[in-house]
Amino acid sequence: MKLLAPEPGWTITSDVIIVGSGIAGLTTALQIRAYGYSVLLVTKARVDEGSTKWAQGGIAAALGPGDSPAAHEADTLKAGAGLCDTKAVHALVTEGPEAVARLIARGAVFDRAASGEIALTREGGHLQNRILHAGGDATGAEISRALLAAVTDDPGIEVIEHALVLDALKSASGRVCGVTLHVIGEGSIDGVGRALGKAVILGTGGLGQVFAQTTNPSVSTGDGVALALRAGADIADVEFIQFHPTVLYLGAKSSGQQPLISEAVRGEGAVLLNDAGEQFMRVVHPLADLAPRDVVAKAIMSQMLESGTEHVWLDVRKVENFSERFPNIYQSCLAHGINPDVDRIPVAPAAHYASGGIRVDLYGRSSIPGLYACGESACTGVHGANRLASNSLLEGLVFAARIADDIHRTLRQLKREEPMVLAEREILISPEARSEIANAMSLGAGVIRTRTSLEKTEQILERVLQESRAMPGVSAWEATNLFTLAKVIVASALIREETRGSHWREDFPEQSQSWRKRIIERMDANGRLSHGYEEVSDD
Ligand SMILES: Cc1cc2nc3c(=O)[nH]c(=O)nc-3n(C[C@H](O)[C@H](O)[C@H](O)COP(=O)(O)OP(=O)(O)OC[C@H]3O[C@@H](n4cnc5c(N)ncnc54)[C@H](O)[C@@H]3O)c2cc1C
Repeated sequence: MKLLAPEPGWTITSDVIIVGSGIAGLTTALQIRAYGYSVLLVTKARVDEGSTKWAQGGIAAALGPGDSPAAHEADTLKAGAGLCDTKAVHALVTEGPEAVARLIARGAVFDRAASGEIALTREGGHLQNRILHAGGDATGAEISRALLAAVTDDPGIEVIEHALVLDALKSASGRVCGVTLHVIGEGSIDGVGRALGKAVILGTGGLGQVFAQTTNPSVSTGDGVALALRAGADIADVEFIQFHPTVLYLGAKSSGQQPLISEAVRGEGAVLLNDAGEQFMRVVHPLADLAPRDVVAKAIMSQMLESGTEHVWLDVRKVENFSERFPNIYQSCLAHGINPDVDRIPVAPAAHYASGGIRVDLYGRSSIPGLYACGESACTGVHGANRLASNSLLEGLVFAARIADDIHRTLRQLKREEPMVLAEREILISPEARSEIANAMSLGAGVIRTRTSLEKTEQILERVLQESRAMPGVSAWEATNLFTLAKVIVASALIREETRGSHWREDFPEQSQSWRKRIIERMDANGRLSHGYEEVSDD
């Protein structure tokens, strides 16, 4: 199954094709270059667009006194609520400090304490101070700047911007040997073409735009996950969407990317208040305002439902030097008419992070030979049912290096394979249906879900499919990818009849031992979805 698109009119080749220019794509490119292979990196907008540059809080690594990979591991497993892949978590926390050191060697500058040591803060779910940050609350922008500079300096990495990847190309042996892509360019590389290589790595980021309100930028339309599904790859854990509890509330009609108020703000002493001015988190969880994200998001939703309000309040007035420690958040509040020095900040949950994605092994390999995934588009299993704050940037770094190692082990023995003619074409969904899809998802498959709400969302999606048609084009391809993801998220959320991690079924409020397994979604050549299970153990 492929997206409906014109036939490719040009071809470009490289040893390895990387899709996406966030922390995952850029780091993978640099790690692969260290082994001497040529890299073509394509990205659908400008190189700095993606979630990476928006990351505020920081990146987690066990570097502080009294901390250890084992302590980081324990916190990660706890947040993941029994569904983490323990081997992947072990790789994350033990290889994390070295991966961060490589990032620093590549030029990323992190904030330092008066002593000269790297300053470490704490975020929800972490029992140690282990979050490195840069520019106060501009960690992602600094990481993006440093990695882009390193990539630009390397003549062995060719970068093409405004290049939207459509579908995987497979050889007769079933191996992925390239992608089709649409480039808004000039000269010979313009319109739909093919990029051919011995391996393809997807670093296409999140899928927050499936929901009406999200912290994710406009490029986060889950294209890589939808592509992998169409190519027949296994997709896992997609029902575990993390909703960030504290997103600046801009009014009931606001949609798309909304400003985030980092969890680190609560790490530095900010507190949540309900309409009556009560610190409601104190009675919800022993860690109060620093409880794991899902607990805070659900508590806020409960407060909003109980009081009939559309948000709660975040009080930052006791945070020391708030405007200096969190300059971007401070400016963002001022821009929306809120002065954090005197006003309480209205906040509500919004879609933030996809814990699931393309199911990969410890070396980033998907279930299809030649196709890898890294970063938010991948499901390594490190996040389980819920991501621990600031583990996602780290995941991008650690697994990028593992993918490069695997490619180095295998690439030399591989011959270039020719792609086969593309198969069935998928009907395209009209971009005009996007708001209907996103509103239905936020209402029915948001923080709180029930069978009834999910079935209603499913019906709306079915109607959209019957009524909506579009001609090929960037916005139609993105709308179709969003629609595909909405369908698999709802399907998995319906199947999982329990409450676990960031998946809260109000009709099944308990966590169930029998559900200690991942749901794997697959698409057949005719576009039909089916599912299977992967048992999760402590080994
Ligand atoms: C507001 C915000 C704050 C966050 N704060 C933190 C934090 O403090 N700590 C933390 O660990 N995590 C944080 N996260 C999560 C973290 O930023 C992301 O998970 C991480 O940056 C993902 O990196 P990535 O490289 O996988 O994807 P991204 O950085 O999103 O990059 C994806 C890339 O793929 C490209 N792309 C997408 N589709 C296509 C296509 N079809 N063809 C070609 N290119 C394509 C995009 O243009 C982009 O270049 C935050 C996220 C947000 C939104």
